[in-house]
Amino acid sequence: MTNDKLDLSIILPVYNEEESIPLLLEELFPVLDEMGKSFEVICVDDGSRDDSFVELEKLRQADERVRVVRFRRNFGQTAAFAAGFDRARGDVVITMDADLQNDPADIPKLLNKIDEGFDVVSGWRVERWQEGLKSFITRKIPSATANWLISASTGVHLHDYGCSLKAYRNDVVKAIDLYGDMHRFIPAVASWYGVEVAEVPVSYRSRQFGTSKYGAGRIFRVLLDLMTVRFLLSYATRPIRIFGAWGLISLGLGFVIGIYLTFAKFMYNADLADRPMLLLAVLLVLVGIQLISMGLISELMVRVYHESQGKKIYTVREEF
Ligand code: UDP
Ligand code: MG
Repeated sequence: MTNDKLDLSIILPVYNEEESIPLLLEELFPVLDEMGKSFEVICVDDGSRDDSFVELEKLRQADERVRVVRFRRNFGQTAAFAAGFDRARGDVVITMDADLQNDPADIPKLLNKIDEGFDVVSGWRVERWQEGLKSFITRKIPSATANWLISASTGVHLHDYGCSLKAYRNDVVKAIDLYGDMHRFIPAVASWYGVEVAEVPVSYRSRQFGTSKYGAGRIFRVLLDLMTVRFLLSYATRPIRIFGAWGLISLGLGFVIGIYLTFAKFMYNADLADRPMLLLAVLLVLVGIQLISMGLISELMVRVYHESQGKKIYTVREEF
């Protein structure tokens, strides 16, 4: 394996897609050849239990531009993307689903946008809703809510975060760290890095083979990951600002109530034993101290994180 630069890296996460994967590559190669660019297709077998790996071996044998990474077990789509990003040699990195739901013919559209100067270009599956109440309730509502929530809380405005078909400049994917189920908001994670994001309408096909790998459980995972991303985007390098602010408010309130109660006790000889307010004051003071300590510990961890890994707290576009 060489370290030569290429024009394109296509990354395909593969989990039990034995029927789809050969068909997908059959569609993908003509599109890429047509463009006359050098490329590699990195297939990440995410612990498939069907014959996906056998198919991938065959495809690799037929064409050297196919690269295969086989995970030891199922680590999830985010990990598969991360493995692809680590290995990508292309100037532009394109991710897509391996289940034929994205159309390779849309790739040139994404590349045009990248050429216009955008760092991240996301597909937007404009017409993707099947008819019927079930699909409306189980897919459309959660997805629309998720897109709205992610937009509102990350400040990166996209219609369709769930679309895997996306293009990135190489430096963007090398710079970001992914955890959990965060592949859904790579553009939001990348926004910390400072990127220009664009969106292009892409087509969408329903699944022909196998089944979707996700159920309703993903709603909670996405919510929790979203909280993490939101927190990291705003406070990653200064956690004391959020913990400390609430800590001070709580401590201050508790203190004021405490003073008032002390005053009542000593000036008017009030009986404090049956006053819930006393409990509240104690609670607020304790919570305040806890929050401030948490903020300080987080500040320590931020320093450990950046200094132990030589990570910078800034990113540079260019310098002379
Ligand atoms: N996938 C994966 N690991 C997983 C789950 C999914 O690599 O644990 C891959 C899967 O093979 C497909 C893509 O991620 O190529 C999207 O998965 P799926 O089609 O099940 O998601 P949906 O289209 O239902 O959102
Ligand atoms: Mg799919």
